Amino acid sequence: MSQTLFIDGRWEAAKSGAVREIRCPADGALVGVVSEGGRDDTERAIQAARRAFDDGPWPRTPAPERGDLLLRVAAALRERSEEFARAESLDTGKRIVESRIDMSDIANCFDYYGKLAGLEAGRLVDAGDASVVSRIAYEPVGVCGLISPWNYPLLQAAWKVAPALAAGNTFVLKPSELTPHTAMLLMEVLTDVGVPAGVANLVLGPGPEAGAPLSESPDVDLVSFTGGLHTGRVIAAAAASTVKKVALELGGKNPNVVFADAEFDAALDNALNAAFVHSGQVCSAGARLVVEESIHDVFVDELVRRAKGIRMGGPFDDSADTGPLISAAHRDKVTEYVRRGVEEGAILRCGGTWGEGDLADGFYYAPTVLDGVRSGMSVVVDEGFGPVVTVETFTTEDEAVRIGNDTRYGLAAGVWTQDAGKAQRVAQRLRHGTVWINDFHPYLPQAEWGGFGESGIGRELGPTGLAEYQEAKHIYQNIKPQVTGWFPDREG
Ligand code: NAD
Repeated sequence: MSQTLFIDGRWEAAKSGAVREIRCPADGALVGVVSEGGRDDTERAIQAARRAFDDGPWPRTPAPERGDLLLRVAAALRERSEEFARAESLDTGKRIVESRIDMSDIANCFDYYGKLAGLEAGRLVDAGDASVVSRIAYEPVGVCGLISPWNYPLLQAAWKVAPALAAGNTFVLKPSELTPHTAMLLMEVLTDVGVPAGVANLVLGPGPEAGAPLSESPDVDLVSFTGGLHTGRVIAAAAASTVKKVALELGGKNPNVVFADAEFDAALDNALNAAFVHSGQVCSAGARLVVEESIHDVFVDELVRRAKGIRMGGPFDDSADTGPLISAAHRDKVTEYVRRGVEEGAILRCGGTWGEGDLADGFYYAPTVLDGVRSGMSVVVDEGFGPVVTVETFTTEDEAVRIGNDTRYGLAAGVWTQDAGKAQRVAQRLRHGTVWINDFHPYLPQAEWGGFGESGIGRELGPTGLAEYQEAKHIYQNIKPQVTGWFPDREG
């Protein structure tokens, strides 16, 4: 029987005995068989995390010690990086080089929060009264429910696990049911470095069963979710009944604005990266190219030519530039998304096809360019989460900004121009959580990440990413207690 749930420091099977086969999206090969947890299992994990928080040593461990332990997690991840990268590539189908970069970023994230943990000693407040000592203490929130998606499975989990631990919380992690293996490996590392039993718990299984208690349970104090907009709404609504803290990192429909005076080759190369890295299964994908009309033809012709040359292949195929989509269901969704776009009037310049021949067993979808789209079309409004870029044009700076902000999302945007003033003006006016100027996609563990609008609530990474996992407590002490006389001392 598969024992892949990690609860209270022990590996366990799902109570129902159910299991799930994990298959590589690149070729359908069996990667592993894992426990398929349900509500009971998650409830058990929540109770373990509750006990570890209420009675265990972790929340009371000095913050610098917690930080040291996170630095050891980072070191262990670096040592086992290749094993982790392989596991990530097999679950997701992404190229091994991309998984290696992810693992390095994950170690850096643990390093960052390891160092930050010990620096925060609260704050003295001047009460304006010499007889008062007033201070703000930052305390852990409590039991955290952490729910992560399949596109960057361990990276998205690490953005939650590292600050949650740094702040002294306990947690239950529920990764996507499609990509569980690196989360299992992380539990091994956390145990090896000495995280106490019950602090870190892992449940696997489908969201509505294994995930839902994390937003519903009164014993969970915070739920942090990364995933789709629809699921985010369900989780926020469920969390409202117990008024728990909610952090949401949802999707994006991210404009990549290219002015005519941009450095052409760099803008073109990065427009490809923006849209097609990890086959577009990136929340911050630059899936909406917004290009100045005067260079539209030359820029888009070149984009199409280059997109046609992108090679698809499995995680260990050195000649491949990009991998498959995560599942047959997701590929069907992307296929329908493109079909609908064309029906609404988009011009299919390239792509729109599935992988054939050697690729027929995987869920490959060719890089796709949809030209001539207009505001309001479904491919412009909705996130596709596949290798699909739409093209719109503008003639003025104001129009570029208006198109860039014409979305209910607000996660990320790119601006390409050699005019530094224009770059800053446009960046200031774009309502997105990250704006890249003359670049696309880089992010830093020390810089906040998150969305405006329906891209989410709260921020991950940076100091704010730690604050999300803390409660601020005001401790006010009167060191010269006196009678106030507010209520006169009279006979009743
Ligand atoms: P999803 O919403 O389907 O699932 C995400 C996670 O939520 C999974 O673990 C799933 O099992 C769980 N879940 C589903 N229903 C649930 C419920 N009722 N209660 C609790 N948990 C539940 O998303 P996905 O398809 O895995 O990921 C793709 C989406 O994630 C895209 O929309 C993408 O934009 C978004 N994303 C956002 C960011 C960001 O930083 N903003 C990063 C990565 C992915």
